Amino acid sequence: MRMRCDCGEKAVYHRRYSGQRFCKGCFTGYFERKVAETIREHKMIRKGERIGVALSGGKDSTVLLHVLSALALTKGFELIAIAVDEGIRGYREEGLKAAAETCRGLGVQLEVKSFEELYGTALDRLVEKGELKPCSYCGVLRRSALNKIALDMKLDKLALGHNLDDEAQTVLMNIITGNVKKLHRMAGGAVKTVARRIKPLRNLPEKEIMLYALLRDLRFSSLQCPYADQNMRTRVREFLNRLEDENPGVKFSVIKGWEKIVMGVKVKGGVKTCHSCGEPSAGDRCRACQLMEEIKIKMSEGKLTLAD
Ligand code: SF4
Ligand SMILES: [Zn+2]
Ligand SMILES: [Zn+2]
Repeated sequence: MRMRCDCGEKAVYHRRYSGQRFCKGCFTGYFERKVAETIREHKMIRKGERIGVALSGGKDSTVLLHVLSALALTKGFELIAIAVDEGIRGYREEGLKAAAETCRGLGVQLEVKSFEELYGTALDRLVEKGELKPCSYCGVLRRSALNKIALDMKLDKLALGHNLDDEAQTVLMNIITGNVKKLHRMAGGAVKTVARRIKPLRNLPEKEIMLYALLRDLRFSSLQCPYADQNMRTRVREFLNRLEDENPGVKFSVIKGWEKIVMGVKVKGGVKTCHSCGEPSAGDRCRACQLMEEIKIKMSEGKLTLAD
């Protein structure tokens, strides 16, 4: 079997869905070109814009910040890293440490805001006292936190490290739960949010992002959130990975199929925006605003207090 890259160097990666083999130099070059191409194709960033990168310290957002910091110089846009500390003991500290180190190394400003500062309580405390699953609080409140920071910092766009696997998982989860509006909204551009969210890694599989991080020797946290095994996404991820093993390229097919479906779908009533914060919402008030109201009530009744 041929173990060499087209350039003649020793291959470090065999991509099953295309049959190609890459050496280190050809792979990292390909990867960076792919990100630049996705940004160009979807008109994600314009010259002179202020781009915030949501940095968790995990591999995806760390890779995104690295690739964007090189592009910022040649394409002339400004880069700021933003991190949200949800308050997950034994997990988030490590990510924040990695994030700070990455930003120091790249000379990128890092802005950190915690759930405690923004909502008066940490996620661990909410999970302990609240009725919802951890990811229901976390997802909604983190989204709202990022919007607040984007507004305060006058960001034009918010770049997220979501990769092909994340996108394929989200499509399947929205199909499983029958969330047609969310499926439609994923196509983007339909609603004006505080800062448009862009996903420059959306065409790259998680495996390739991990490989890029290792080949570039990037510092990132590989800890898994202790609440992750309680969510549906973990099951969908395992299912998609099994499918991909048997049918290389299936994750791309899920995205392509969804794009075709979305083009032909008209959502009744369109997408509303929240009366309180202006974010996309199913009703007059979005889930984040409802949750925050519930948290405020619990705190005023003394049922919820600041983290110990
Ligand atoms: S797994 Fe759930 S609780 Fe943990 S960081 Fe992700 S969304 Fe938050
Ligand atoms: Zn090569
Ligand atoms: Zn709202």
